[in-house]
Amino acid sequence: ATPTAVMVATGVGANNGVLIKGGDALERVQRVKYVIFDKTGTLTQGKATVTTAKTFTGMERGEFLKLVASAEASSEHPLAKAILAYARHFHFFDDSSAATGTENDAENDVKSGWLFDVSDFSALPGRGVQCFLDGKHILVGNRKLMVENGIHISTEVENFVVELEESAKTGILVAYNDILTGVLGIADPLKREAPVVIEGLQKMGVTPVMVTGDNWRTARAVAKEVGIQDVRAEVMPAGKADVIRSFQKDGNIVAMVGDGINDSPALAAADVGMAIGAGTDIAIEAADYVLMRNNLEDVITAIDLSRKTFSRIR
Ligand code: ADP
Ligand code: MG
Repeated sequence: ATPTAVMVATGVGANNGVLIKGGDALERVQRVKYVIFDKTGTLTQGKATVTTAKTFTGMERGEFLKLVASAEASSEHPLAKAILAYARHFHFFDDSSAATGTENDAENDVKSGWLFDVSDFSALPGRGVQCFLDGKHILVGNRKLMVENGIHISTEVENFVVELEESAKTGILVAYNDILTGVLGIADPLKREAPVVIEGLQKMGVTPVMVTGDNWRTARAVAKEVGIQDVRAEVMPAGKADVIRSFQKDGNIVAMVGDGINDSPALAAADVGMAIGAGTDIAIEAADYVLMRNNLEDVITAIDLSRKTFSRIR
């Protein structure tokens, strides 16, 4: 392709909301063999919503939600924001039906005094959060977090979590004072276009893969809904780039599509990094492509554009 053709293609991309950082990336994507998708915020809408909150110790519901929200108040994680929104709605309206993780301000929550003041907070990447309240330890996160802290998970709790996961929800477990106190179920619907895009890639001879920090059962349920066969779950934040490298082994060209801070090492490691425009700045910086419309159809647009620009006879 001539420099002019590259310039024209870059312009066509820009007009469609596909920002391409340089001709090399434009050239590479025509030969892509695998497209690795992050789950949360990439295949899904990234609008996590609490759908269930159940206590197992007889703790009152409002008290439980306040406890969990207090622990999550300093977390930037989308799951934390969903929990805060749900708990806030319950606290002020005694009914959480309309709560979504959109408008909220954790700092104001603490200032306005409805949350407990916790101490020694820490975020544990790929696991959850922990803190102390009046000398009592609070843990909010996945099974791994509970197991690592020696928290006993009863069969009743385990069955409840499995049920959530099999319906594609993420189960968040809560331990207070070393006792498993309750579980939250969080749903994050697929982007509407996702299944069609996955099918389209397969028809183009490109293999889609899903990678996530979420648990295997939820990951498999989401992958099944979207039509992806190859899934990598319970991947720690640092591990996503390793997944990319494992697909590159035989000289395959690999694209990564992601939105989060977690995804930026993988976006950089991939032959072609594609960031969702609504994603975090760090992801956008690490990527070769930015999909401004936040629509996964633009993954196909990008491949088509490259193939049309560079391929002679296919
Ligand atoms: P993803 O690849 O989906 O972005 P993360 O690495 O951010 O995954 O998180 C993986 C898992 O760790 C989550 O599904 C959740 O179980 C747990 N987790 C992480 N942060 C939090 C948090 N602030 N509160 C509760 N659970 C969390
Ligand atoms: Mg994500």
